Amino acid sequence: MNILSLLLAAVLPVLSGPDARLQVSFEDNGGTLRYQVAYDGKTLVAPSRLGLQTNEIDYTRLSVVSVDTEQLRDTYVLDRIKTSHVDHAALRAVLHCQNPDGRKLDVEWHLTDHDAAFRYVIPREGETGSVRVLRETSAFRFPEGTTGFLTPQSDAMIGWKRSKPSYEEHYTLDAPLDRRSQYGHGYTFPCLFRVGGDGWVLVSETGVDSRYCASHLSDYDAAEGYTIAFPMPEENNGNGTVDPAFSLPGATPWRTITVGADLAPIVETTIAFDVVEPRYETTRSYRYGKSSWSWIVWQDASMNRDDQVAYIDLAAAMGWPYILIDAGWDQEFGHAGMEELVRYARSKGVDVFLWYSSSGWWNDIVQSPVNVMCDPLARKPEMRWMESIGVKGIKVDFFGGDKQETMRLYEHILSDADDHGLMCIFHGATLPRGWERMYPNYVGSEAVLASENMVFGQNHCDLEAMHAALHPFLRNTVGCMEFGGVFLNKRLNRANGAPGPGGRVFGTQRRTTDAAELAVAVLYQNPIQNFALTPNNLTDAPAVAIDFMKEVPTTWDETRLIDGYPGRYIVLARRQGATWYVAAINAGEEPVKLDVKAVEARLGGTARVLSTGKDGLEAAPAPKKPLSIAQNDGAVLVIR
Ligand code: CA
Repeated sequence: MNILSLLLAAVLPVLSGPDARLQVSFEDNGGTLRYQVAYDGKTLVAPSRLGLQTNEIDYTRLSVVSVDTEQLRDTYVLDRIKTSHVDHAALRAVLHCQNPDGRKLDVEWHLTDHDAAFRYVIPREGETGSVRVLRETSAFRFPEGTTGFLTPQSDAMIGWKRSKPSYEEHYTLDAPLDRRSQYGHGYTFPCLFRVGGDGWVLVSETGVDSRYCASHLSDYDAAEGYTIAFPMPEENNGNGTVDPAFSLPGATPWRTITVGADLAPIVETTIAFDVVEPRYETTRSYRYGKSSWSWIVWQDASMNRDDQVAYIDLAAAMGWPYILIDAGWDQEFGHAGMEELVRYARSKGVDVFLWYSSSGWWNDIVQSPVNVMCDPLARKPEMRWMESIGVKGIKVDFFGGDKQETMRLYEHILSDADDHGLMCIFHGATLPRGWERMYPNYVGSEAVLASENMVFGQNHCDLEAMHAALHPFLRNTVGCMEFGGVFLNKRLNRANGAPGPGGRVFGTQRRTTDAAELAVAVLYQNPIQNFALTPNNLTDAPAVAIDFMKEVPTTWDETRLIDGYPGRYIVLARRQGATWYVAAINAGEEPVKLDVKAVEARLGGTARVLSTGKDGLEAAPAPKKPLSIAQNDGAVLVIR
């Protein structure tokens, strides 16, 4: 090591989170800048590269020139996910770096007690006013013995009507890292890692808007670990570039690392929202709540007036504010017929969401309306019409992937929709990356193997409890998740077990108890929940279940993990006002013991327990002995 590198090494900082248990340190051996993350002195992210390369400047070799730090507070209102008021200390640090040619780049860090996020900020120097980013060398390496909870990035232009990638793949749990991903394209965010007995790490990204592409993690490389990977050229039917481009000065999205000795910080993190800002102000006010939805169980055949009226009446009977009217409404009713149906719904106190395909030049979708949301010339008058008849939101489906071109489409749909007081739900879509705070009319995205798959295939019913014990640690912890759950039918079709032709019983079969289904209403979080209840449930489901589904909130003031292990079981507490809703589900063969008295003592209050008794779902006060929750069973504690 020469004198110069010793001098340079001397300025490398060690950044500490506010309570000093999280530390990020740096090394720049020979001009390759690496960071490392430790919690309570244990290394959770091993030395990993920083840097990026643009078409103009190579920033893959960087030296730190100086560092600025600032203590600040993340204080803001978050009205639709996890916790309503965020208020915690943070450290903002800027590593002023330069490449071997003296070209400047800032690596900006944001540390909370459990999160370390970073992004690159490129200044404008000289004539160059814009750049394309060709690749990022940002990497994530993990200590020996680390296992991953990961879901692969799909091939492009495969699946239903060539609509993938759409973040609808299975997970591999607790698996060694040195294996090829299913498609060889790496893994979608968020990615969870267990560093042996030392702790947990969740890696994701946030702040992705029209000025960048959405990224994912590459396959694992023994030397570099996982690196940030851009979309595939084939996505969006080959249209649009893989390289993101932005004007200078400009910044990349944030790469986020959440760490903990246990899983509570993973489930409770707000880092996806801490480092982003609203992209536009709204003059509208948006109301969240529950919704009925005929398509999920009654499917395409329910796109007729009688069935839509039945689901409007279901929403009204439940006191739910919304109905989602899914694909094909334009062909069945036309715009004039829809005006009449919306009028009927509103006369019952129920507001309407309408489905659209995102369709343009990126897939083969025929479900209609098509070719409206992709085209501002068609989209704007359509949104004016929706506002004029009192429609409150849209569900837009089947997007083209993760390229910057598609991120631009999401942002433009959201922005135009806000002009007309319309909320937006996205399906067949990418993961939201901070959008709950960035866009005032954003509701939630699918980006998960959602409830529709339980209607399509028995294996998804068999996996229902596993998924409910998984997503609060992963998909749903970084963003609102439009799952469409809570089935009270035993068979997931209209007949619900009544024999069809030849005496046969059709339909996939639910494996979970009613108590487990009620738990799903709390475990899965979206500010508007399109639940899978059917009109017959008003009379054939337990009254206790119906009463609970009338009552359960869809937004929360606070979220706390009580216990759990990803994919095995979970006990999760969410508070609205003075009431805690504690939801438990067990996917494992071993019964889960839930000490209700201990939960009462921890959260404060008296529990009403919804659980599985001898005759099915029952409501009772807290039992003295711990509740025993069998496989595919669950429980909800309502603690006041
Ligand atoms: Ca889907």
